[in-house]
Amino acid sequence: MRRLLILGAGTAGTIAANKLRRMLDADDWQITIVDQRGTHFYQPAFLFIPFGRYRPDKARRKASRLIPSGVTRVEGEIDRVDPDARRVALADGTVLPYDYLIIATGTSPHPEETPGMEDDWHGAVHSFYTFDDAVALRGALADFTGGRLVVHISEMPIKCPVAPLEFTLLADAHFRERGIRDQVDITFVTPLSGAFTKPVASEAFGGMLDDRGIAVEPDFMVESIDAQAHRLVSYDEREVPYDLLVTVPVNKGAAFVGRSGLGGELDFVPVDPHTLRHGAHPEIFAVGDAAAVPTSKAGAVAHFELDVFPENFVRIVAGEEPVESFDGHATCFIESGAGKAMLIDFNYDTEPLPGMFPVPALGPLPLLKESRFNHWGKLAFEPIYWSMLLPGRPLPLPAHMSMRGKRVPS
Ligand SMILES: Cc1cc2nc3c(=O)[nH]c(=O)nc-3n(C[C@H](O)[C@H](O)[C@H](O)COP(=O)(O)OP(=O)(O)OC[C@H]3O[C@@H](n4cnc5c(N)ncnc54)[C@H](O)[C@@H]3O)c2cc1C
Repeated sequence: MRRLLILGAGTAGTIAANKLRRMLDADDWQITIVDQRGTHFYQPAFLFIPFGRYRPDKARRKASRLIPSGVTRVEGEIDRVDPDARRVALADGTVLPYDYLIIATGTSPHPEETPGMEDDWHGAVHSFYTFDDAVALRGALADFTGGRLVVHISEMPIKCPVAPLEFTLLADAHFRERGIRDQVDITFVTPLSGAFTKPVASEAFGGMLDDRGIAVEPDFMVESIDAQAHRLVSYDEREVPYDLLVTVPVNKGAAFVGRSGLGGELDFVPVDPHTLRHGAHPEIFAVGDAAAVPTSKAGAVAHFELDVFPENFVRIVAGEEPVESFDGHATCFIESGAGKAMLIDFNYDTEPLPGMFPVPALGPLPLLKESRFNHWGKLAFEPIYWSMLLPGRPLPLPAHMSMRGKRVPS
């Protein structure tokens, strides 16, 4: 009996467990999945919870219901991988041996990495990157009647890099609906040189912020937060004052990755960007946010990765070479307020471009342009996530990015 061990039962780990259970012979393969939590969160909902538009309970489900029969579920905190002995130790002393290992432990926010960030946590300093933080921010936003709202990214990479921008645009719409927009100054503070990582999209998003009277403070490398004086302080000694700070703390991979000598910078796992295979340990793979690959950390990326990875995995364990190649494909909806959203579609080589998706000229989803269709697409994604994506059912979306319908601006 060969043993496949999957670490992490979030988006990527759950899809991998469902797909590979169907593809690997149950008489030959024992599959085990480990997670520290018994709850699975639909994280895109964390964006809507603070605005009182989403019932928090809807965002979570029992993890055990999402793992297929024939896969053993272990609840516990992963402490260390011993890649030479091919064993994983949990914090409670349990040892799990493996022949093949898939690391899918994602990324999580670390406010303690920035001096002063935790001093006023859930006071005037908030976030929406965890379930608890999103719920706490809902109260703070409801109580906010005017002043300086600062939305802030500490450092890249972060998961869903468009989420802080979406939060900023939704905040603008939220204050307009409440009739207090003229009493709120909104500033978007980012370590990037513009509103997004890629130039064409950055220009489009920058224009949207400008149109809404939202100030941008670019190239801001935060050094500390002065929680008493309510100020963000950068390494080049700039200061940004706030009354309410909504920050995205430093995002790091799981600490055991570094402890086990498997991690690169910030405890993400360096793997081949096309096969997701570890260079030094060919029986180890990383999928989802845990992988250090040059595309967005997003559920959509986990989805496209797991459209190509399982076939490669089956070939590799049969002693063949992997043939499928992941191209870094990412498709992200960007809520822009008032029932509209933008859409971007890109990969390792092609930045987000304008055009129509998925059918040239017809769409119906315009790229890099606000539309109601895109907003409906974002909403439709939630039932698809639970009923199609996590169980690993095929979706009518190509795994690889296509140039069909895209326009390269002159
Ligand atoms: C506010 C917000 C909005 C988002 N919006 C979108 C969106 O619109 N579209 C989109 O595509 N993506 C979005 N995302 C990103 C998306 O949720 C993630 O990219 C996706 O969940 C990544 O899947 P994953 O399996 O790699 O990680 P996760 O789903 O985070 O799963 C990781 C799992 O590993 C477990 N784990 C970690 N460390 C350990 C340990 N030491 N021991 C045991 N278990 C461990 C965790 O408990 C967790 O269950 C959003 C994220 C946020 C926070």
